[in-house]
Amino acid sequence: MTKKNKGLLIVLSGPSGCGKGTLVGELMKRGDCAVSVSATTRAPRTNEADGVHYHFISHAEFEQRIREDGLLEYAEYCGNYYGTPRKEVEAMRAEGKHVILEIEVQGAFQIRERCPEAVLVFTTPPSIEELRRRLHKRGTETEEVIEQRIARAKEELPYAEQYDYIVLNDALEDAVADLNTVIRAASMRPENTDLSGLL
Ligand code: 5GP
Repeated sequence: MTKKNKGLLIVLSGPSGCGKGTLVGELMKRGDCAVSVSATTRAPRTNEADGVHYHFISHAEFEQRIREDGLLEYAEYCGNYYGTPRKEVEAMRAEGKHVILEIEVQGAFQIRERCPEAVLVFTTPPSIEELRRRLHKRGTETEEVIEQRIARAKEELPYAEQYDYIVLNDALEDAVADLNTVIRAASMRPENTDLSGLL
């Protein structure tokens, strides 16, 4: 019995500001994970580089990618488009990497439809007050945008119940350990295991 050569597809959702980026950074230390770089029409933040944090593209270009079926999923979030480039994800999985998609809930459910083997993980902050505190601490959004994102978080949180796993991001090391456990469990699922040598 061996592991299938194709890597897992791991969806990581959760309210903006709940620490998904930090969690992904920790998972990247494993060496067998890769993160998908999304396309977006949102303007870059001061610390963001094109092709690293996102592929920053125009509305017209995004719509062109939708028409060409170049996106595995896409959604509109707080007035901007966000989407996952299909080819990049497929190439990384073919190399055996576990690909992490850091995406919001509408996109997550599109992935479940199109890639039923995907593992959907929702990360939650300990409370809405803590989420607001983290967004203020990040200091990259205006007060208005922070409140918009809090409102969106309240809308998204009930969807956590439809995910495969919920990971509480309170103490970072506990959340990272939980995610590693999820990856370990997912890699033991029959669809990710090759029994052909035994049967
Ligand atoms: P931010 O503007 O804070 O970078 O991202 C806003 C939201 O969009 C976050 O919840 C993030 O996870 C989500 N997001 C980022 N990339 C994608 C994507 O490719 N597809 C979808 N559906 N959501 C995304």
